[in-house]
Amino acid sequence: MSTAPRVSPQEAWDELAQGNLRFVEGGQEHPNQGVERRSSLAATQAPDVALFGCSDSRLSAEIIFDRGLGDLFIARNMGHVVAESITASMEYAVVELGVALIVVLAHDSCGAVAAAIDQMSEQPADVPVAVKNTLDPILPAVQHLWMREQRHTPYADATRLDADAIGRVHLANTVNDLLRSSRIISDAVAAGRLGIVGCQYRLAEGRVAPVSAVGPLGIALELIPDTSF
Ligand SMILES: [Zn+2]
Repeated sequence: MSTAPRVSPQEAWDELAQGNLRFVEGGQEHPNQGVERRSSLAATQAPDVALFGCSDSRLSAEIIFDRGLGDLFIARNMGHVVAESITASMEYAVVELGVALIVVLAHDSCGAVAAAIDQMSEQPADVPVAVKNTLDPILPAVQHLWMREQRHTPYADATRLDADAIGRVHLANTVNDLLRSSRIISDAVAAGRLGIVGCQYRLAEGRVAPVSAVGPLGIALELIPDTSF
C-alpha cells in the first residue's frame, strides 16, 4: 500500500521556508507542539516533509523550520552520508507516509567536513573504523576542490581550502547519492510527486539557504555548488 502526497512539493517547501524565516526573525509560532496535537497523532502520522541532515546539535530541524510534532520525518547522521538505513527511511517516508518533499540539510562549519579534509591530508588523524567509513563519501568533494587548484600534491591542506564550499559540493553529491541509491525516490521525482531540496544552514544567521533542487520546484537557489573543473 502506498500513500499519495497531500500537498505539492512547492507547497511543502513554501511552508518550510516561511517557518525558517520566522525563526530567523525571532517570530516563531511554535505550531503543533501542544497536548491537542500530541493526542491527535497518537494513532497515525502524516508528515509532508522528510528531512535527511547532519547530526550537528545546532541544526535541530523542528526548531529551525518552526514546525512541531508530526510535521517532519527525520533521519540524521554525521556529515549527512547516504547509507542503506537512510535510503530506507526516505523511501518509507515517500511511499508509506506520502511526503512531497525531501530536504537534505547541510550546514557551514561542519565537523564532519573538517574531519574529511583532515583524512585527505598527508598525516591524517587516527580515527575509529566506523568514523573513517562514514567520512569516506565526503572525500570526493574534498578531492574535487583540492585537485582543481593544487595539482602538485594529492594531500589536502586545510588552510588552503574553503570548507563551506566543500560542504556544498558534498551536499550536491549527497542528493545525487540518494537518487542513485533509490529507484523509488527517483521515480517519485520523475512522476512530479516529489521534490528534493539541498540546503546549507548558516549557523550564525539561522538561515536555511537552498543550494540545489530537483523535481517540480521553483526556488531561487543560492551559493550553487561549484562542481566544475
Ligand atoms: Zn555537520
